[in-house]
Amino acid sequence: MSEEKSLNFLEEIVENDLQSKKYKSIITRFPPEPNGYLHIGHSKAICLNFGLAAKYGGKTNLRFDDTNPVTEDTEYVESIKNDIKWLGFNWSNELYASDYFDKIYSYAVLLIEKGLAYVDDSTSEEIARLKGTPTEPGKDSIYRSRSIEENILLFSEMKAGKYKDGEKVLRAKIDMTHTNMLMRDPIIYRIKHAHHHRTGDKWCIYPMYDFAHGQSDSIENITHSICTLEFIPHRELYDWLIEKLEIFPSHQYEFARLNMTYTVMSKRKLLQLVTEGHVSGWDDPRMPTISGLRRKGYTPESIRTFCDKIGIAKRENLIDLSLLEFCVREDLNSSAKRVMAVLDPVKLIITNYEEGKTEELKSENGPDESMGFRFLPFSKELWIEKEDFMEVPAKKWFRLAPGAMVRLKSAYIVKCDDFIKDSEGNIKEIHCTYIPESKSGHDTSGIAVKGTIHWISAPHAASAEVRLYDRLFKVENPSAEEGDFKEHINPYSLHIIKNAFIESSLKEANVNERYQFIRKGYFCLDTDSTKDHLVFNRTVTLKDAWGKEVKKA
Ligand code: ATP
Ligand code: MG
Repeated sequence: MSEEKSLNFLEEIVENDLQSKKYKSIITRFPPEPNGYLHIGHSKAICLNFGLAAKYGGKTNLRFDDTNPVTEDTEYVESIKNDIKWLGFNWSNELYASDYFDKIYSYAVLLIEKGLAYVDDSTSEEIARLKGTPTEPGKDSIYRSRSIEENILLFSEMKAGKYKDGEKVLRAKIDMTHTNMLMRDPIIYRIKHAHHHRTGDKWCIYPMYDFAHGQSDSIENITHSICTLEFIPHRELYDWLIEKLEIFPSHQYEFARLNMTYTVMSKRKLLQLVTEGHVSGWDDPRMPTISGLRRKGYTPESIRTFCDKIGIAKRENLIDLSLLEFCVREDLNSSAKRVMAVLDPVKLIITNYEEGKTEELKSENGPDESMGFRFLPFSKELWIEKEDFMEVPAKKWFRLAPGAMVRLKSAYIVKCDDFIKDSEGNIKEIHCTYIPESKSGHDTSGIAVKGTIHWISAPHAASAEVRLYDRLFKVENPSAEEGDFKEHINPYSLHIIKNAFIESSLKEANVNERYQFIRKGYFCLDTDSTKDHLVFNRTVTLKDAWGKEVKKA
């Protein structure tokens, strides 16, 4: 898959900037706000920022955009660092916008001294009223003409804690009739008596996003500040502030955020799912978070491939969840160890097989010999899947049915002679005879069968809980529906199998390994597992079940 790929628009910009010697080398940054866990959308921004710098020999900073004291937490900081490392990226510097608070404060003072900022005592309602609308110009606040001296004094009093939250704000003095609403004297500092996760109680005034982000970029000499499309209208203000402050001219570039079907991608909504108990936590395998996908069994490679495949666009779109599943399926197909597990068991008894005898049968670990092989115990009593037997076979049924023959994977051909039902009419036991000459690899029976099924030797089986996941939402785009997005949660998104049978080799499974349960899908050990209670998560099915109705448990 190494066809020459044309450059995306950001690569073109960077190549031009390097060729024209605008920059000697480039610096990008990934700027998460530590107010939640990273999701698959963030991984697109991560791959983009780190990938671009790596491709052109530049650097990428990890900068926590922690200017809002109320929603931020060190738990999030740690999870974000962990997720980025897991995805396979290394930052040049770990930085915090809050470390620039002194510098940003001095920038605000500089703007005041230049007559380009003023303290406004208006209420937020009054400020909103005077702001105008996209079609009507705004009006000047009566505080707009305050003297520089008065503004300096008031701003220092704001910093000193003389005023309550909301009593005053600092605004840039631009143009209340500007066509871009964000240029109508935007608020750049607000009072907030709140404890900050890093600066503690040192500050009771905090810079607004627009007066922190570009300034932080500039302080770090970021050459290409990449963000998502909703920031296009902010670019004018970004440039204005940098120009007036006469600081390093970082430039902002925008790309389309990733949206994906059957999920939500905003931290605010994901937080609701967590706090209201719709999922078990940020790392619930149904969540689109990096930690959820990791727990579900996704590999970093598969997520990077996905980000590469979707590319960088300038227009919003909705990406099919099935593309992400395709990427992990492809990756696991070449790397996951093949094992046998029976999820919905029924007993198969081989009547002509010696009681108490065990054979060790060679079974390949992978699709070819490169992954080696292991020996599987085989005996008179086996578990097979209920769905591999039909009392009255359908047309073209190649699995077990009365009188039918099937191959037991890596073992023998068996013929079904009989079956027993319990008092409720469920199949309880299937009785077969085996063909001793049909052993896999040494088959001299001359019998050709069309079906192969998996099995587990009953006396040797280990048991496990298996968790099967479906889409978290019933509709393609829950955020676009009317009403609360949570009304569209899929009630069948988790199906727990309490007692599946697995190869005893899986007792040694570890959380970092991935397995293909033959014919059943890709699975990994869940972090809830203990030595005595194994839990496996289904990462993805073997085939795309796309378009199928939401399963009724
Ligand atoms: P959310 O709306 O989920 O809270 P955010 O943009 O507020 O997202 P940040 O922590 O500020 O989250 O995001 C850090 C970086 O990741 C930003 O540069 C942002 O543009 C980018 N990013 C966030 N969500 C997506 C997405 N869905 N697709 C691509 N990039 C994203
Ligand atoms: Mg944000």
